[in-house]
Amino acid sequence: MGDTEKKVKLIDSDGRRNDGRMPHELRPVKIEAGVLHRADGSAYVEWGGNKVLAAVYGPREAHPRHLQKPTRALVQCRYNMAPFSVSDRKRPGPDRRSNEISKVISEAFSSVIFLEQFPRTSVDVYMEVLQAEAGTRCAAITAASVAIADAGVPMRDLVVGCASGKVGGVVCLDLNKDEDNFGEADVPMAVVPRTGQIVLLQMDGHLTAKEFDQAMAYSLGAAQQIYELQKDALRRRYSVSLEEFRAKEATASPEPEEEPKYDVYHDDQPGVAE
Ligand code: ADP
Repeated sequence: MGDTEKKVKLIDSDGRRNDGRMPHELRPVKIEAGVLHRADGSAYVEWGGNKVLAAVYGPREAHPRHLQKPTRALVQCRYNMAPFSVSDRKRPGPDRRSNEISKVISEAFSSVIFLEQFPRTSVDVYMEVLQAEAGTRCAAITAASVAIADAGVPMRDLVVGCASGKVGGVVCLDLNKDEDNFGEADVPMAVVPRTGQIVLLQMDGHLTAKEFDQAMAYSLGAAQQIYELQKDALRRRYSVSLEEFRAKEATASPEPEEEPKYDVYHDDQPGVAE
C-alpha cells in the first residue's frame, strides 16, 4: 500500500464512510425515461456524482451486413466517457476499458432481449457518461435498461447494475470515487430482478468467500430498490395526467364536424330572450 493510500481514512470510528454513508447505504439515485426525442428509447441516470445518458435504436437492419445473424438480433452496445467526465481530461474515443465495458454490457442484454423475434436486425445501445465518479458501468447498464424498455424492445425483464466492495476492511455497498481508488475490492454486477439471474459479474481486488457473499447480498438488496426507481421512471414517462390530456386535446387540430359547435339562435326559436 502506498503512502497516499495509508493517509486516506475511508471508515471513521463510528463506522461511517467518508461521504457519511453507512456500509449498507446507496448513493442517491434518480432516473428519468424518454429524455431524447430522436432516439427510439432513452433514459438519464444520476447516481451519486455519476451522470449517464442512454439512447437506444432498433431493432433495425444490422450494419455492417456481414454481422447480421439469420436467426436472431444482435445487441451492439457502446459505452463512452466524455472527455469532460473526469477531473483530468479523458482522451476522446474508445480505449481498452470502454471496449471491455461495452462488450460485457452487450452480453448482459443479449440474455434478456427476445433476440430470436428479430432476425438480421440490431438493437443499438449508446451509453454516454457525462460525469464519472465510480460505478459508471452499473449506472450505464441501469440507464440502458430503461432506454431499451422505453424503445419498446421486448425483453424478459429490466436489468439492474450495482456494485459492492471492500473499504478499510469493511464490506460496503456502492463505492464512491475515493473508495474505488483506495479500497481493497470492487465487485460490479448486474441482475435480472424477476428471475435473480446474474448477467454481469466482475471483480477488481480480493475478497474472502464470506465477504463476497456479503457484497452480493448488499448489491442484490440495492438492486431491488433501483428496480423500483426504474419502473417508476417508466410509469412517469407513460402516465398522462388529466390536465396534460386536456391540454393535448385542446392543441390538437379539430376534427371536421357536420354540426357547427356554436349555438345558433333563430328569432323564431322558442324560449330565446329578446
Ligand atoms: P466504474 O466506473 O464502472 O466503477 P472503473 O472501476 O474502471 O469503472 O472506474 C472507476 C472510476 O475511475 C470511474 O467511474 C471514473 O470516475 C474513473 N476513471 C475511469 N477511467 C478514467 C480515465 N480514463 N480518466 C480518469 N478517470 C477515470
